[in-house]
Parts: sequence; C-alpha cells; structure tokens
Amino acid sequence: MATGLALILDKKDYDRSDILAMLQCSEEEAPLLYRCAAAVRDRYLGNSIFLRGLIEYSNICGKNCLYCGIRRSNDKIERYTLTNEEVIEAALTAHRLKFGSIAIQAGENWSNAFIDNMEELIRTINKLTNGQLGITLSLGEQSRETYQRWFDAGAHRYLLRIEAASEALYRRVHPEDQMHRYHRRIECLRIIQETGYQTGSGVMIGLPFQTMNHLADDIIFMRDFDVDMCGMGPFIEHSDTPLGANGAANLFLKERFNLTLRMIAILRIIMKDINIVASTAMQTIDPSGREKAISSGANVVMPNLTPAKYRPGYQIYQGKPGYREVTAENISGLNLDLIPGTTLGLGVWGDTPHYSRRTAGN
Ligand code: SF4
Repeated sequence: MATGLALILDKKDYDRSDILAMLQCSEEEAPLLYRCAAAVRDRYLGNSIFLRGLIEYSNICGKNCLYCGIRRSNDKIERYTLTNEEVIEAALTAHRLKFGSIAIQAGENWSNAFIDNMEELIRTINKLTNGQLGITLSLGEQSRETYQRWFDAGAHRYLLRIEAASEALYRRVHPEDQMHRYHRRIECLRIIQETGYQTGSGVMIGLPFQTMNHLADDIIFMRDFDVDMCGMGPFIEHSDTPLGANGAANLFLKERFNLTLRMIAILRIIMKDINIVASTAMQTIDPSGREKAISSGANVVMPNLTPAKYRPGYQIYQGKPGYREVTAENISGLNLDLIPGTTLGLGVWGDTPHYSRRTAGN
C-alpha cells in the first residue's frame, strides 16, 4: 500500500497542503519525488534538454534590489555594455552550434537609446539567422509599448522573475520606493503575457525571512499565473549587497540547493508541460547541480556565450561560474553521463506545448 509521499504523488490535483508535504518530505523520500518529476517531463515533453545561449548584454541597472551584485549602488564593479558586433557574433555562434535559441539578459535600462538599439539587434539577429534562432529577453520592467516593439521585432519569449510571490517578502528584499513595486512587477508580467510572449517567471529559494509557506505560495503563483516557463534558483549572497553583507547565511547553501530540487520537481509535477530551467546557480553550489536539476524535472540549460572578458562584471551573486568557454565538443557544458536517457534538443526553438495550449484556451 502506498504511504506518505507516494499517496500524494498518486493524486491528480494538488492543494497547498500537498505542496507543503512534498516540500517537507524526508531525505529518504526525496529521490521518489525527483524520479516522478523526471518521468512527468519525459511523458509530456520528451527527453530533450533545450539550450538557450545566454548573452549578458549589459550590467548597467537602474534598480537597487537588495540581493543583487549589479545593483545601481554597487560602485565596486565596472559597468559594461557589449557592442552590437559582440552581441551578433555571440548570436551567430549560437546559431552555428545549433543552440536553437538565445536569451539576452541585462540590468534594467529604460533609456530610448537602449530600447531602440535592442529593437534593432533583435531585427538584425532574426534577419541574419532567417528567423531560425529563437530569442528570449530578460530585460526587466518596461512599458507596454516597449514590450510590443521588441515582440514585433521578433523576440518571442520574456522572462521576468517575480523573485518572491509573497508581497510581504518581496518588500523585504527590495527597497521601499516607487521603483521597486510588487504590483508594478505583476502588472508587467500581465502585459508580457497579453503581448503574446511565452511568459516566464521565477523565484529565489532560501531568501532571508522566507518560510515553507512562502515557497508553497511561489508554486501556486506559477500555477495560477499560468507561466510557460520558470527559472528558479537558490539564493546565494553577494558580499557587496545589503542582504549579503554578513555572508553568514551561506552556511545553508546545501539546504537551499536541496529545496530548489524539490521546488523544481513539485512545479514539474503540477505544471507538466512548461519549460523549467536548470539554473547556473545550482552549479555554483554543486558542480553537478544542473544535472541534478534535470534529474528532478528541469529541461532547459543556459550556457553562457557572453565574451569572457565581460563575465566578471555580471556577478549578480557571488561565485557565479561560467568562465569556461562553450566548445564545439561540449556546447551544453553538461555531463551527459550523469543524465542517462536525456538528449540535447539541437537546432530547434524548444517551445512548450503549454504555450500553444494556453493561447488556444485549452
Ligand atoms: S535583480 Fe535585476 S533589476 Fe534588480 S538590481 Fe539586479 S539586475 Fe537590476
């Protein structure tokens, strides 16, 4: 007879108490949770792991999130913006290596020059790759008009992490000012969805003041918002930030790592056909972190294609890896021996059936 976790996994629908029970299952039970999530992924999406070549376009940011190493007030880092030639070169490398998609990420910049240039870059990359390279953007909160312009230029996915679905927790990890408003963030996510993007969000796991109830609410937020993709990672302190200044909480990295595996697995079990990222932050804590995330239901990795000389400038958290160049021999950087039964989905965008289903109203 099935007991404990096995009984919950047998259900068709999961309520808040089920999510909490899965989050708090014993160490002995956790492998069952992970296996179940990986089987759900294989059943609904197949066994392909999709690649998004990450281009960290600029570390200039107008915001001041209390956890982030490139926050506006950190004057210890050198600010950079890639040239258009460097962005295009990285995109063409992704195309040549059959990544299928790129993700362009930067701090928040609302200047006309930034917005115009990004629109131009998206059009150019589309033209040079005959529309074969999928383009994901992660450029923060923007106006409806800007989201629309970038969408019309050819970007089709947008990632805006809510970071903490609880408004109270969100406010504890952001400055209390007009620039860091929880409701504005939610509004932006809605606009992104309405514009027609495949819409992604995500949270940090192990934030100060965060409880298991907050994490359960994060899962419920993703479900109720009906995200198409999700990037979740463990919170890792950066010593040049208000939340990382004492560094002491880094003692709990292993716990945050394990909780992140559980969050990935639970989200996969509940949202069966969305894209879930195996984040680089997992690899920071454990060299096999991304492979373990894949074994827990994730299906996307984001190898870094930013020119190496800029990467030290994009330390949003401390110890972020990625100085290793992507090579033609191993474009994902994954140790595929650790994730038998999976294969790289090359040369395809790697879209989710969830998006087609959601937009068709099913
Ligand atoms: S988390 Fe994003 S918006 Fe906040 S400071 Fe960092 S780059 Fe800027």
